[in-house]
Amino acid sequence: MKLIFEYEQQPTEHVEQIQTQLDLPSELIRDSLPLPNVNEIDIVRHYTNLSKKNFGIDNNLYPLGSCTMKYNPKVSEELARLKGFASIHPRSPVEYSQGSLEVIWELQEALKEITGMDDVSIQPAAGSQCELLGIMIAKRHFENKNEKRTKVIIPDSSHGTNPASVAMCKLETITVCSDSRGNMDFNEVKKKISPDVALVMVTNPNTLGLYEENLLEIKDLAHQNGTLMYCDGANMNALLGISKPKEQGFDMMHLNLHKTFATPHGGGGPGAGALAVRAFLSDYLLVPRITKEDGKFQLDYKKEKSVGKVHSFYGNFGILVRALCYIRIWGNQIRHVSENAVLNANYLFAKIRDSYHVPYDRRCAHEFVVSAKNIPNGGTIDIAKRILDYGFHPPTVYFPLIVEEALMIEPTETESKETLDKYAQVLVNIAKELREKPEIVKDAPHTEPSRLDEVKAARQPNLRWSPQ
Ligand SMILES: *Cc1c(COP(=O)(O)O)cnc(C)c1O
Repeated sequence: MKLIFEYEQQPTEHVEQIQTQLDLPSELIRDSLPLPNVNEIDIVRHYTNLSKKNFGIDNNLYPLGSCTMKYNPKVSEELARLKGFASIHPRSPVEYSQGSLEVIWELQEALKEITGMDDVSIQPAAGSQCELLGIMIAKRHFENKNEKRTKVIIPDSSHGTNPASVAMCKLETITVCSDSRGNMDFNEVKKKISPDVALVMVTNPNTLGLYEENLLEIKDLAHQNGTLMYCDGANMNALLGISKPKEQGFDMMHLNLHKTFATPHGGGGPGAGALAVRAFLSDYLLVPRITKEDGKFQLDYKKEKSVGKVHSFYGNFGILVRALCYIRIWGNQIRHVSENAVLNANYLFAKIRDSYHVPYDRRCAHEFVVSAKNIPNGGTIDIAKRILDYGFHPPTVYFPLIVEEALMIEPTETESKETLDKYAQVLVNIAKELREKPEIVKDAPHTEPSRLDEVKAARQPNLRWSPQ
């Protein structure tokens, strides 16, 4: 596609003429305009076509494993755009922001019910920020108990933000390998748990899309050791209304509202995270806390034990409105979300499993991982690029790190059987193409600009056009 600067330009005399006719002081007249003087119709076509280059959930299936790219209902968008929500100033006095505070309050109550936890903060901007906050809280908790704990146990299948959060809090990550069924290796946890372990951080179901079968034993071991259990709840889309993480033995957990509760995400946000905790950790949560007395909402900044703030004001409020809307749409039927997410993932898995290598042969939760390692003539990256030619988004690739040539697929509950059938057909076709006419896959994509140098694009991004 051409850049706007590369179109044929119209003569600019008339622009200059207008400028001289205007009775402006000469220093206010621009001597150059960084926009080219292109025909209106060409401009309209240029930007309309550019807008179609974007891929989003409204275009087609976007089955990024662990990211839960589900459909974002348009009714939530409408509600978030209501003037009273969209235009409220964060410094409005509480008596003028009762409705907005009520939204936050109700969302917190709903998340308490869903997680089973006793208290929740909705201020963080993302799941990763909740992890950071959780570790800050654990540190403060142990400081107050005069215990020196400096280590966090994390499985090797975990998301990269888990060890990154540990490092940001200047603690040490102890990695535990996965066993042959994709669970945290219990014997290894047993060996590595010690009085200086502050937290065990578990993703359940894990990033392989598998329930942690050893969770209750690990929880007992941790708690006997005085260690706290943290649940990375990014995969809550498998558990809504079915199981409460507090009852699985967790002391803290996060939810990614932009994943599980259908608020838009991708391209860097804004997102929203919620950190839910048991009562004994409640005093450490962020300020301001919203309190409710005689039906009136207040903001309470006076929490001595609080670890403070991680975001300005009350978090990404527009995202909170959307999340509450999604929860309210489902109400006490929210279990159907996870039932259908798990059903869709297992259906897609069953349709493609004969064409790919299956590293852990178990029934999956809301996502699954297959590998391209046994397919001749090409790797995962070729498959991902070829999927673009069929008009779909590729799944998450090369993650989790413990699976060679991994494709991690999460269709979510919002996709129809028809769409899943089409995607399965595409994945089966590509595996066949690699065996029979590999060039077509290795040279993909054919419908999009050629492949980027992925390393260079990440390390030296060049996002700006400048004239020669
Ligand atoms: C997405 C994800 C995170 C990080 O959450 P963000 O909201 O993107 O910061 C952490 N763990 C897992 C398993 C995830 O899928």
